[in-house]
Amino acid sequence: MTFFPYRNGRLHIEDVSLDELAARVGTPFFCYSAAAMESAYTSFVRALGDLPATVCYALKANSNQAVIRTFAQLGAGADVVSEGELRRALAAGVPASKVVFAGVGKQPSEMATALDAGILQFNVESLPELEALSRIAQEKGVRAPVALRINPDVDALTHAKISTGKAENKFGIDIPSLRGFLDSAAQLPGVRIEGLAVHIGSQITDVNPYRMAFERLVALFTELRDAGWPLERLDMGGGLGIAYEGDAAPDIARYAEIVRETTKGLDAKLIFEPGRFLTGNAGLLVTRTVYVKHGTARRFAIVDAAMNDLIRPTLYDAWHDILPVAQFAAGADREPYDIVGPICESSDIFAEQRELPPVAADDLLAICSSGAYGAVMSSSYNSRPPAPEILVRGNDYAVIRPRIDYDELIGQDRLPDWLDDGQQSSEPRGAA
Ligand SMILES: *Cc1c(COP(=O)(O)O)cnc(C)c1O
Repeated sequence: MTFFPYRNGRLHIEDVSLDELAARVGTPFFCYSAAAMESAYTSFVRALGDLPATVCYALKANSNQAVIRTFAQLGAGADVVSEGELRRALAAGVPASKVVFAGVGKQPSEMATALDAGILQFNVESLPELEALSRIAQEKGVRAPVALRINPDVDALTHAKISTGKAENKFGIDIPSLRGFLDSAAQLPGVRIEGLAVHIGSQITDVNPYRMAFERLVALFTELRDAGWPLERLDMGGGLGIAYEGDAAPDIARYAEIVRETTKGLDAKLIFEPGRFLTGNAGLLVTRTVYVKHGTARRFAIVDAAMNDLIRPTLYDAWHDILPVAQFAAGADREPYDIVGPICESSDIFAEQRELPPVAADDLLAICSSGAYGAVMSSSYNSRPPAPEILVRGNDYAVIRPRIDYDELIGQDRLPDWLDDGQQSSEPRGAA
């Protein structure tokens, strides 16, 4: 089933037309289908079946409070990578007992906040980090629950910038150093090693690398437990990809089967940290064509969204489907367009040589699969207010992050005394 149907010749998100949303908040804007998120979550949980699993939504994919709460209401916990995300998760109603704190560079102040909140576990990636955590927990008279993140040295077969499980990546503890690591950990009074964790990368569509990673994780788990470490939990990480090009959806049933096979007979609770899989295909970035420019070599559709709104094509060479909001016949004539933003960077491109029905100024286009690593990675580069976000549910919708106005954007700056002549104003000079 599609959450983005054409009705009366125009593209909708669930039962709401994109024209209506564009009229309400202007373009560009992100919109998310609550039903699509719920469907992705449910399919993930169903695939896991009766495995003893806690699903901790990886907030970094999309950390709007409304999105977090949508998953929290379905029973999800949260995987956070900063104090800001921890605060967002708690504010959105995720119980601390379902929060996992990941990341290679947790600061002492962040650890203190998480200890005070009483989170489920810290995923620790280095000895200095473990020592810092132990010290802070000791000061508070508590023991921090820890899972050690292992670097399984597995190639996730994904883009280099989002691969995290190879020996040369900065993430995790190398398996050969784990023994020595544990000898040191045993001396630390403020931590309790309760589990092991992996996370091998993101946008993984071939699920086979998971098997190797999980096998290595489980082997270590068994070995350490036999050696007397009271381990209880295995954190399988996230990384499950989505179909951006329509054909490459990961096989979630096989993923679950790999989990089931590799953890068979193991008495351990499992944690999963999906991010992109839950939100990626639930979102659109809707943009309006400003000009169509016919160059000598290319035809450009210059749109009002830009790399500051959605940086994935620029950063990862990501391919996003682009749909005209006006419905078109399957056999309609098409022309190749470069869909580009207005920013002064040659890399401000959403798509090159994309075959689309003729595009004219003012036409609305929907950039698909923008629900993950879209709005969260947006910036105000070029002093462009970041695109607002809308959550749709059936025929209802709500603006879940408004567009900030120029006063607010510019007003974040402060002039030092020596430059301040009392004349600072965000009104254009000469405006009456
Ligand atoms: C980024 C990240 C995730 C989520 O990754 P997705 O590819 O969005 O599923 C999960 N766990 C950790 C530790 C991460 O860094």
